[in-house]
Amino acid sequence: MRRKVTIVGAGATGATAAHILAARDYADVILTDIKEGLPQGKALDIAQMGAVLGYEPNITGSTDYEEMAGSTRVVVTAGLTRSPGMSRDDLVSTNEKIVKEVTEQVVARSPDAILIVVSNPLDAMCHVAKNVSGWRKERVFGMAGILDTARFSTFIAWETGSSVKDVQALVLGGHGDQMVPVVSAATVGGVPLRKLAAEEAIARMVERTAKGGGELVNLMGTSAWYAPGAAAAQMVDSIMLDERRVLPCTAYLEGEYEIDGLYMGVPVKLGPAGIEEIVELDLSDEERQALQASAGAVREVVGVLTT
Ligand code: NAD
Repeated sequence: MRRKVTIVGAGATGATAAHILAARDYADVILTDIKEGLPQGKALDIAQMGAVLGYEPNITGSTDYEEMAGSTRVVVTAGLTRSPGMSRDDLVSTNEKIVKEVTEQVVARSPDAILIVVSNPLDAMCHVAKNVSGWRKERVFGMAGILDTARFSTFIAWETGSSVKDVQALVLGGHGDQMVPVVSAATVGGVPLRKLAAEEAIARMVERTAKGGGELVNLMGTSAWYAPGAAAAQMVDSIMLDERRVLPCTAYLEGEYEIDGLYMGVPVKLGPAGIEEIVELDLSDEERQALQASAGAVREVVGVLTT
């Protein structure tokens, strides 16, 4: 029997993840939303795209949470997005209610699932999902680092005139403007970034990465969805296909990176059990301090949660 992956929230990000997973065709995909017709319509459209592109997905759209019953993986993309002038943190109280409600439904219907949170403000919403579910930290975590790293990698490739396929990069920390692109770990074809680009150019790339979400919100009036949807799908791949990839994800830290009791973006090994290992890197003093500052910013948002 094929396994079931549910995407909650059939908006831009959820539908993109559903589309990519449906095309991968290794699991049944359920797309749910509260807006009647939206998940059904998008699922139908994605199914019909299979006829053009040559895959045979099994995707169902529904507004009935019962449809997700027995899912082994659930991705939560339900919630408001920011508009120009808003920070992700401005979404906290509205999205806290939504993520709480969704998590309760997931726990009731898919008690053995692994839960991947995408809704913003991401780090705080992971706390909501963990607190409401009561699940082990290995089964509740978030998507942000793959997206932030994709942005950093893209800028590195453009700046150095290289293929993005040869860029190895990493962004740590909270999913906010204080995220930490790790310059000391960035390489192109194995060559350290600092050998390939001037410090001012690196500083510009770091700044553009940290504000990368805002750049897109200012252009489009709403937040990005193609790269975020692909990033969420990549996490599902690593778990469901037993790939055990090391990917930057938002994980609950208990002392790692000198941070305790907080969800933050760090490299983790993702496999069938969820987070199988948190990978600790040697950071420069400057990067360590930046990570602590980012943790401080996340703690402030977590502090206003009521869940
Ligand atoms: P969107 O507005 O296109 O879609 C959100 C969907 O959630 C809507 O269709 C809405 O009806 C649905 N929804 C609201 N309440 C719901 C509920 N209780 N149950 C089920 N569905 C519900 O927004 P989007 O672009 O898809 O973004 C979704 C969320 O993901 C936002 O909070 C956004 O900020 C966040 N996001 C996070 C990242 C990240 O890196 N972590 C990246 C992109 C987007």
